[in-house]
Amino acid sequence: MSEKRVQGLAYECVKCGAKVASEELDLRGGGVKCTICGYRVLKKIRPPVVKRLTAK
Ligand SMILES: [Zn+2]
Repeated sequence: MSEKRVQGLAYECVKCGAKVASEELDLRGGGVKCTICGYRVLKKIRPPVVKRLTAK
């Protein structure tokens, strides 16, 4: 498959609020760092997928 992962994981910078795709971080060597302001504290955000609750 030649299809690219569009948005797996993403991070949001806690400082400036920029959203950074994990792919981008990989391209930059795998370090978690805001691509906009360079801040290193990012929180994980989930891709907009509808969550289903599974009844157990
Ligand atoms: Zn930032």
